[in-house]
Amino acid sequence: MATNTTTTPNTAAAPKFPEQVTGMYILAEALKRVGITDVYGLVGIPVTEVAFAMQKIGMNYYGFRFEQQAGMAAATHGFLTKTPGVLLTVSSLGFMNGLTATTNATVNCYPMIQISGASDPTMVDMDMGTYEQLDQLNTARPFVKAAFRCSHAKDIPQAVARAYRAAVSGRPGGVYIDMTTPALAEIMDASEAEKLFYEPVDPASPVAPNAASVKRAVDLIASAKRPAILLGKGAAYAQVDDKIKELIETYNIPYLSMSMAKGLMPDKGPLSALSCRSTIMEQADVVIVAGARINWMLSFGRGKWNPNVKFVQLDVQPTEMDRNVPVAAPVVGDLGESLDAILAGLKGRTMSADPTWVTSLQAESTAKNAKFEQRLKDASTASPMNHWTALSAIKPILESNPDVILVNEGANTLDDTRDTVDMALPRHRIDCASWSIMGMGMGSTIGAAVATGKSVVAIEGDSAFGFSGMDFATICRYDLPCTVVIFNNGGIYNGVGVNPSGAAAPAPTTLDINARYDKLGDAFGAKTYYVTTPQELTTALTEAIASRKPCLIDVQLAADSGKESGHIGYLNPAPLIQYTV
Ligand code: ADP
Ligand code: MG
Repeated sequence: MATNTTTTPNTAAAPKFPEQVTGMYILAEALKRVGITDVYGLVGIPVTEVAFAMQKIGMNYYGFRFEQQAGMAAATHGFLTKTPGVLLTVSSLGFMNGLTATTNATVNCYPMIQISGASDPTMVDMDMGTYEQLDQLNTARPFVKAAFRCSHAKDIPQAVARAYRAAVSGRPGGVYIDMTTPALAEIMDASEAEKLFYEPVDPASPVAPNAASVKRAVDLIASAKRPAILLGKGAAYAQVDDKIKELIETYNIPYLSMSMAKGLMPDKGPLSALSCRSTIMEQADVVIVAGARINWMLSFGRGKWNPNVKFVQLDVQPTEMDRNVPVAAPVVGDLGESLDAILAGLKGRTMSADPTWVTSLQAESTAKNAKFEQRLKDASTASPMNHWTALSAIKPILESNPDVILVNEGANTLDDTRDTVDMALPRHRIDCASWSIMGMGMGSTIGAAVATGKSVVAIEGDSAFGFSGMDFATICRYDLPCTVVIFNNGGIYNGVGVNPSGAAAPAPTTLDINARYDKLGDAFGAKTYYVTTPQELTTALTEAIASRKPCLIDVQLAADSGKESGHIGYLNPAPLIQYTV
């Protein structure tokens, strides 16, 4: 049968619009009425018309090449806006591809809702072998905060409202809605459907901490000789920047920012202890942990830490307390409410901080920063370029464009960029976060651009880019102000891996040092650059940011630039085979 560009609905069952509507339309309308304006997805049976319905009623739909990247975009949108990012997927494989991103959102406490088309559950439950059969609801459950199944069109508005509340309330995370074909296909009178819509009241109601916990925290902070504050991405998410600034500046508390909290307080600020991480861990006696988890990234609060350190932990999630170390002063509540209470409690209190604590940290920072600058300067003329050469060109450009959002993933590319590029504004750095995954790049770049309207620069390792590279096409199709910079050192970690058998097949870590990623950008109409020197990189990046157009910069590095696993090689088990990377 010939394919048609217009749909040929089954006329027997066709709804008489506008008197009648279907579940497809109800879903689009329900999302719009809770305030969702942007949806990311990849359509096919049975959700194609949902996306058309969204566009028809004035929503923005962003169609991707891979569901996982649409999900990464939704998750980043959620992180940046405190409203759920929405992902639309098809059944079976599309659902599974998207679920990876939804799971990553739950892990990172980003609010998002995955809505997936699903086969008729009565057929799935009887294992009839129906089209794209999978028990998606139960597959999703372990990975999300809440999961709902709509078997009837009338349930859709309630599922959307409850999913919204579940995603943003308490600790944010991923939520799943199983949108079955029967519900999507169901016809309702428009007047009946209209009665179903409602806006949830106060869906992200902030929870206040109890007074005893606040008093305990205040007493401890006031008693500290060497206080410090650790800022995590939960603090960035909370959007209580002024309160954090007030606590830090009024009480002169040095701060250490976790990767995605960089810029919440300026990395270059006088109280920034970014260069004194070890000293903070070894010497601070009271550490306020704000919206960060004391997990592997913080050595679980043990080992390197002062054995007598007392933690004041501010977190919305009660089960986060005592996870790896006993927390002396747990304050459970929304960060804004907790900070209000702590700031009120600290008013008029005498602080006990040793006056040399801050000055000695500042002296250490000055010395370490000078050493770092020298290292960059020494690398700035290397030919071929290494990571530091490229970063010596990138650093001044990004720092003079502080409102550009930086997306960053890779191994050495991640570690070295994070250490080199100082951030000055909150929520301007998005990276591979708690799991330290690869494969969020293009999705997060798109989500950041859509959610904020700002220019985005993604700095990607060549391997990292491979996970999501096809969705560079999506950046181009929607003409987004995004520049993707690829550090090509020809491999995972680097491009000098040796196959220990002596055979010609590439080593497991080897990719392609001669790949011309810029030509991939050409295929989709981007402005592209291939650069081999820091001067060319400077020109290209400056021009690309100013253009506010899709751009791709292929940065040719030396194949031996970069070490195995970047800064976290210690996480590898001891090797059995002596291999070269
Ligand atoms: P980082 O990786 O930057 O250390 P994590 O993702 O490990 O950050 O920790 C973020 C923490 O912030 C989580 O424990 C989460 O429960 C918490 N959190 C998220 N939003 C809020 C909020 N509004 N108020 C308080 N805590 C929050
Ligand atoms: Mg953390």
